[in-house]
Amino acid sequence: MYYRADLRRRGYVLYSIHDNIPDSSDGRIFEALIDWRNKKYLEDLSLDVKRGLHHIVNQYKAIPGTPPKGFKREVIDIGKRRNGLPHTVSRWVPDPETWEVCRQAWVMRSRGVPIRQIHDQLRLFSALGSYTTFFTNRIYIGEMVYGKSVIHDYCEPLISREVWDLVQSMARKNSKDYNPMKGMLNAKHPRRANSRFILSGLVYCARCGSLMNGDSVNFRSGKRLDYYHCGKSHRNMECKALRIPKEALETIVIDQLAQYIMDPSILQMTEEEMDNNHREKTDKQRISLAALKAETEENQRKIRNLAIKISEDYSKSTALVELLHELEHKESALQIQLEALRAQADKNLTFTPSPQYREDLAKALDLLKTEDDRSLKKRIIQQFVKQIMAEREGDKIRGVVYFRYPEIDDTTTKSHRRESNP
Ligand SMILES: [Zn+2]
Repeated sequence: MYYRADLRRRGYVLYSIHDNIPDSSDGRIFEALIDWRNKKYLEDLSLDVKRGLHHIVNQYKAIPGTPPKGFKREVIDIGKRRNGLPHTVSRWVPDPETWEVCRQAWVMRSRGVPIRQIHDQLRLFSALGSYTTFFTNRIYIGEMVYGKSVIHDYCEPLISREVWDLVQSMARKNSKDYNPMKGMLNAKHPRRANSRFILSGLVYCARCGSLMNGDSVNFRSGKRLDYYHCGKSHRNMECKALRIPKEALETIVIDQLAQYIMDPSILQMTEEEMDNNHREKTDKQRISLAALKAETEENQRKIRNLAIKISEDYSKSTALVELLHELEHKESALQIQLEALRAQADKNLTFTPSPQYREDLAKALDLLKTEDDRSLKKRIIQQFVKQIMAEREGDKIRGVVYFRYPEIDDTTTKSHRRESNP
C-alpha cells in the first residue's frame, strides 16, 4: 500500500497523458495506450481462462495442455460449437503404459531414494529438473488444480496420501531454506536475471508493491504473448492487478529513459552533481593527505631526536633502540599509506569532461534502441533505472519510472565496441 500512496502523492492518479505532468529528477510518470494486438490477446486470454475453460474444466473435467507423465488425453465430444462444428475437448486419464512406472518412482522417492538414482533406473524424463515438478503435482493424488479451483476427485489417485506426504516432507528437508515463494520474490533470482524480460527485477506492481514476474502464454495459433505479472496476483490471486504486455511496457520505459537522459536540464544537473561529488572527493583526499604528511613529519622528528639521545647516552640504549625500531616501523607503514593516497589523488584528477559524458550517454541510448542483445540492454537499463511501478487498466498502462544517478559504465559501451568492430 505504501507504493500506491506514494504514487498518489506524486499526482499519479490526478494527471492524464494530456496534462502537463511535472517531472521530478528521480521519477517520471507515464501513461500509454497498449498496442491493440496485445490488447486483443489479453482479452482472448481472460475470456478463455475465466469463462470458457473454467466451465469446461468443472463440467467435463476437460483440461488444455499436455498431460503430465502417467496420463494421456482422452477426447470427448461435448456438443456442437456455434458455427455447427463438433466441439471436442480432452480430459486426462491414466495412461496404462506409464502408470506403473510413475507409481514406482513415487514409492522409491517416499523411501528416500535420491532423484538421480530414480532417474538412472526409470528414465521417466530426459532432464533431472522435471522430477521436481513431477513430485509436487497434485494430480497424482487425484486432484486437479486449475487456476483458482481444485477438483478433488478429478481422477483415480496414483499414490496414497501417505506416500504423497512422505515425499513432500522429504523435499522440505532437502532444501535448506524452505520457502517456495522466496525465489520469485527475490529481485536477484537467477531465473529472473537470465530471462528475456529486460525489465525483470525492476518492475513492481503499482497496486500492491510486489515484484512483477515475466511470464508467457502460448496460444493454440502458435502465437505467444509475453507479459509482466504481479507476483502476488500470479501465486494466489491476492492482488487483482492485470497482466501488462511485455513489449508495450519495455517500449514505454525505453522511451521514458531516452527522454530523461537527453533532457538538457537533467543533463546539466547530473553533470553539476558529478562535478560537486568529484570536488568533494578530491577535497577530502587533500585533507587526509595533509594529515598523513603531518603525521609522517612528526614521526621523522621523533626518530631524529631519539637517534641523538641514543648517541648521547649509551646506558639507556636497549630500551631506546627498541623504541627507535618501533618508530621506523611506523615510518614505513606511513610511507605506504602516503603512496596509496597519492596514487588515488592522481587518478581522480582526470574528471570525465562533459562532451565525453554526453557522448557516452548518447551511445548507451543508441545501443538500447538498436541492439538485439537482451543482456546488454538489460545492463544499460539497470544503470539508469532504479525501479518501475506499473499497472494496467483496460487498454492503458500507467506508472512511474524512477531513475538513478546516471553514471556510464565504461565496460558496457567499450566492450561492445570491440565486439562489433573486430
Ligand atoms: Zn500486485
